[in-house]
Amino acid sequence: MTQQEIQRDFSTLPLSPALLRNLDRLGYRVMTAIQAHSLPLILKQRDLIAQADTGSGKTLAFAIGILHRLDPTDFGIQALVLCPTRELADQVAKEVRRVARFADNIKVLTLCGGTPMGPQIASLEHGAHVIVGTPGRIQDHMSRKSIDLSGVRTLVLDEADRMAGMGFFDEIKGIVRACPKQRQTLLFSATYPDDMKMASAAFLDRPEELKIAAGEDATRVEEYFYEVAHEKRNAAVAHLLAHFRPESTLAFCNTRIHCRELAAELRAQGISALALHGELEQRDRDELLVQFANRSCAVLVATDVAARGLDIRTVDAVINVDVAKDTEIHIHRIGRTGRGDTIGLALSLCAPSERKWVKLIEAWRRAPVNWFPLADLTPAAGSALQAPMTTLRILAGRRDKLRPGDLVGALTGVAGLNKEQIGRIDVFDETCYVALDRHAAARALRSLADAGIKGRRFRLNLLEQA
Ligand code: ADP
Ligand code: MG
Repeated sequence: MTQQEIQRDFSTLPLSPALLRNLDRLGYRVMTAIQAHSLPLILKQRDLIAQADTGSGKTLAFAIGILHRLDPTDFGIQALVLCPTRELADQVAKEVRRVARFADNIKVLTLCGGTPMGPQIASLEHGAHVIVGTPGRIQDHMSRKSIDLSGVRTLVLDEADRMAGMGFFDEIKGIVRACPKQRQTLLFSATYPDDMKMASAAFLDRPEELKIAAGEDATRVEEYFYEVAHEKRNAAVAHLLAHFRPESTLAFCNTRIHCRELAAELRAQGISALALHGELEQRDRDELLVQFANRSCAVLVATDVAARGLDIRTVDAVINVDVAKDTEIHIHRIGRTGRGDTIGLALSLCAPSERKWVKLIEAWRRAPVNWFPLADLTPAAGSALQAPMTTLRILAGRRDKLRPGDLVGALTGVAGLNKEQIGRIDVFDETCYVALDRHAAARALRSLADAGIKGRRFRLNLLEQA
């Protein structure tokens, strides 16, 4: 399979709507390479040997697999994840719990050495759906008969190479034997040397093998932070746009008043910008999104609420005009850029009073963010940031039997446009929107008004230049 054929959106997976919604809320929108390759197999219950670099998102791949199969009404242990160390087990358990938030009452228990057995035994007696632990401690519980692995459906060996390197092989063998034969086994590893292959062959049943090359995750976001006085934010946005000149930008503000004000200020400077906020009529909202999607609007200014659940295609840049108070919202915002093969740009403006929210982002990532001085930005050559297209609206649609081909025909025929001057076409029941090269749009409008489409006259106009 080539890169292009691999589906990248989580929404393409056969997962429950609740689980998908939660992934989206957590800011997981586009799968990493290992997820995109492994999840279709994992969800088909195949056994798997997956090899991918550290940081490539293996945890989420198996967490989704486990939770997809899980029956919350059955309090027996249904999934077991073996990790080499307590720290890793804690991290994995944390991630599984986050992903499990879509359902009530999924219990995830960590069982590692270095903590007393007593409380662990008590927790086991209360029942747990998922166990994450180190092989040594799980083995201890087995020998005390305080754990019952006979209901395990999914067994995960995470960082198998490290577990082997730490001499856990015998424990793992014993644990595997205590699990039912009818189960799914997933082995994740950064490396997969031959001796490990031999040793683990008996654990897996006709496994699929995946190896993701380093760098296959072209999906990357470059993040820059700028400190700016609260009252200079709007000017700073214009500055960022002039410097980076992204073709499409989603700018987030915390209030809808600020959205409107910023969009108006940008337009006054000749930058093509529209404000998306909760007060818009449905029709205006749809029209605005069409304009953004078809490249008739360069900057969409939105509140988090207004942008939620929107199917906005990948944008070149996300600008956080205010820092989000909630790190998950921040991650969610910047997840809108850097999809597919492009490198996204996430630019955050931070007023001195918002430093505390940046601290939360840093704590979440366990790494400092990168600060840059606004003064270093230089406007790139060229005029103000205008969208390349303009939208032609035709007050007729599917009900009038208009199809995209008819519109292309009329535009390349009577209006004399070439195909490159015609962009995306959206046909609705009673309205069509056609993106046209902004320099050719006025001429196209006149010709269509004179000659009609398929011999029929329809009301049409150009949407106000954003
Ligand atoms: P690995 O186990 O492969 O070393 P992790 O599972 O620990 O990597 O993931 C590394 C980081 O990537 C985590 O912070 C995780 O939240 C993040 N991550 C994983 N999948 C995605 C995704 N699809 N989109 C965005 N971030 C992701
Ligand atoms: Mg890992």
